[in-house]
Amino acid sequence: MTETRFRNARLPDGRTVDITIREGSFAAFDDPTNGDGEDLGGKLVLPGLVDGHIHLDKTFLGLPWRPHRAGPTVPHRIAAEKAGRADLTLSVEDRAKRFLAREVSLGTVALRSHVDIDPDSRLDHLHQVMAARDAFAGIVDVQLVAFPQSGVLIAPGVAALLDAALSEGAELVGGIDPVGIDGDMDGHLDVIFALAEKHGAGVDIHLHDPGHKGAQELRAIAARTAALGMQGKVTISHAFALATIDDRTLDLTIGDLRDADVAILTSAPGTGNLIPVARLRDAGVRVFAGSDNVRDAWSPFGNGDMLERAMLVAYRAGLRTDEGLALAFELATGAAAQALDYGPYGLELGARADFVTVAAETLAEAVVERPVRSLVVKGGRITARDGALV
Ligand SMILES: [Zn+2]
Repeated sequence: MTETRFRNARLPDGRTVDITIREGSFAAFDDPTNGDGEDLGGKLVLPGLVDGHIHLDKTFLGLPWRPHRAGPTVPHRIAAEKAGRADLTLSVEDRAKRFLAREVSLGTVALRSHVDIDPDSRLDHLHQVMAARDAFAGIVDVQLVAFPQSGVLIAPGVAALLDAALSEGAELVGGIDPVGIDGDMDGHLDVIFALAEKHGAGVDIHLHDPGHKGAQELRAIAARTAALGMQGKVTISHAFALATIDDRTLDLTIGDLRDADVAILTSAPGTGNLIPVARLRDAGVRVFAGSDNVRDAWSPFGNGDMLERAMLVAYRAGLRTDEGLALAFELATGAAAQALDYGPYGLELGARADFVTVAAETLAEAVVERPVRSLVVKGGRITARDGALV
């Protein structure tokens, strides 16, 4: 039986303990001793970070700086991204590996990546991202969404390509603005949910559509989720409509999302109103966080740091108390792990032995300061040290 010990660890509740790991899971949190094991020097131990939404195939990481050139709308950005693909001198696989190395060095133990499936790239991005995932097996868990970035109904052959992607290893089927991009809410959702049902796959739909149009789509997705018994398996990413509808419609929409157990993903984007994170959580809607675009055609921002993402959620949502900062942190850890169906998680006996150590006094200070990750451990194995991959 493999057993590893880490001594002198400070838990978020203030206790200093020795951590014993057996077969990749937490086996004991004991009073400190002078026995075997690496001395963590009283550093604060946090659960492993989880990134609920990235695009491994889009990033420019590894390439020279590329000025942002896309126009302001979703169709502008889709077009700019496609036009720029030919100039990318590193393969999708190479850039995805750099992105994964970055995430691990910053304490990420699991993530969900959307991968473009469109008439031009077909399954090519999926295959390259799967190769990057294989290279990081055991270091970071990677869940893949077959993402119809260019639409489904308006993009010839994409429905069949999504079907093939789900057969080849994507765990979830994506979607995008059923009205805003495809112009046919029911037609779009018919395809996505039929594929989910056929493959027993989860669903994660990008929904940028604002206002009452977006709210109608949120409620339609919740209704289909409930009708198909898919509670707990559906995510709506961004859901900007939640930030732009009147109070009464918001209440009705929140009720539908809660009843169907549809999760909402936010990246705390820099433009527009932030969705009401605390109100959603208080009402029983699952909310989690992700980086979304990191240094790509959609955005020059982002660095794959989920502690920083928690800070951005707190900053934008005005969560200033320790409880508020802990809520933002939860979106980047426990709530994201649950959305990704990661299994036993957290600083608890029997959970997968994933943790990050930082030089911070409290969890709240760690969110505000985003210190260097002095140690990253996944399943009992050290994957990064002092901000660099081991
Ligand atoms: Zn996205």
